[in-house]
Amino acid sequence: MGFGRGVSAQFSGEMIGAMQLYPAALLRLLPPAVVTGAALWGRAYLPGLGGEARVILEYLPYLLCLVAVCMACQFNRARMLLAAVAVAAFYWAVQRDLQVSLAEAEAARAYLAFSLALPLLTLYLLLVPERGILNYRGLATGAGFVLLLLVATTLGPRLAEVNAAAAQYYAAWPAPGYVMSRGASLLAALVLLAGLVILTLRHEESDAALLGAFLAQYLALALLHLPQVSLAMGLAAALCVLWGVLRSSHAMAYRDELTGLPGRRALNERLKMLGRSYVIGMLDVDHFKRFNDTYGHDVGDQVLRLVASRIRTVRGGTAYRYGGEEFCVVFPRRTLEESAAALDAMRDEVANYRMSLRDRNLRPENRRQGSRRRGATRLGADQVSVTVSAGLAARDDEKPDPGSVIKSADAMLYKAKRAGRNRVAY
Ligand code: GH3
Ligand code: MG
Ligand code: MG
Repeated sequence: MGFGRGVSAQFSGEMIGAMQLYPAALLRLLPPAVVTGAALWGRAYLPGLGGEARVILEYLPYLLCLVAVCMACQFNRARMLLAAVAVAAFYWAVQRDLQVSLAEAEAARAYLAFSLALPLLTLYLLLVPERGILNYRGLATGAGFVLLLLVATTLGPRLAEVNAAAAQYYAAWPAPGYVMSRGASLLAALVLLAGLVILTLRHEESDAALLGAFLAQYLALALLHLPQVSLAMGLAAALCVLWGVLRSSHAMAYRDELTGLPGRRALNERLKMLGRSYVIGMLDVDHFKRFNDTYGHDVGDQVLRLVASRIRTVRGGTAYRYGGEEFCVVFPRRTLEESAAALDAMRDEVANYRMSLRDRNLRPENRRQGSRRRGATRLGADQVSVTVSAGLAARDDEKPDPGSVIKSADAMLYKAKRAGRNRVAY
């Protein structure tokens, strides 16, 4: 048993309320990219399939979209519902209108309409907030989508009729082996860029799924000359949307919305699967009630998010939000000493993590009030920091199950609090 208290070594800063970038969110594009790549490659094997298999495959995009629609309704997700309907409609329209030469005026007009509508509708779904389905704002989201679809498909083709330069700019086949016009390609590139920015800002599964479906449908149009491409890409787009619905429903159940850490349910699942050797750490933010009283609950929430982003970096363990301002870290196959060292390094990092208050109104009105309320929270001119305390316990013969290990870690946490906070006890 002992107390650890590290030496301050690092300094870091973050603006409360400022936008955070999550470059790791780009990894969420991996599954849609793999699915689309595999479909593009597997396209070559489609002609070898027998008649029945082929028919099933041709209806599969509709079936997948139907499943996605049902699930989106179940989870009340309007954006994914619209995406699933749009993917099915796009697949149907490409099969109906674009299986002839684009030298035909009607087909060329439909092609231009689709290639302009696709990026515009994707951008709409990326930007529009999720408000659920069967309520006033959810229905308005759907109406806006239909309106944009109508505008893009009726006015879009007219762009090519303005003058000869416009006709050239919006003409199909700008290069050998590439069908989409320069104008539509530029629009698609801009939407892709906007989508990547949105994804790194929000770190959400549904955005990655929308971008994946967009990529697949873009390829269906841009490489329209390749045989079987519309079926293969229709399948890929439908799979992307279905994957997005599944992932976001999983995230709803297992991730804590505020901090992005796995939540209590995920922890309970994990506890069932632990082996015979593990350590559990319980963490609690010090004097957080006082912090909320001083700066308000909203700033408290933002601070909790930033602190959680430090806690998740703990070496050798997985961090969960246990509830409120309490966190739990599971260290599988680690000794008590190793885990305590990792937690203490993280504790030190949190204590030295300075967060800036952007809004001057959030600061305490005068110095005396500020210092009276400070407690464990140190306050610079416009900077705040918080500290955490932690208790640790390892599984052993006296504590053979996760419940008793957690209880013991909680007792250690209480000990750390009583000994003055901002420390690790084990
Ligand atoms: P101690 O050092 O003993 O842990 O003191 P404390 O004030 O942190 O302890 P206590 O458990 O009494 O208070 C926890 C406070 O954390 C209560 C509540 O105001 C705050 N809190 C819990 N969950 C949230 C949250 O999600 N957001 C915000 N802003 N505050 C929260
Ligand atoms: Mg608490
Ligand atoms: Mg606390």
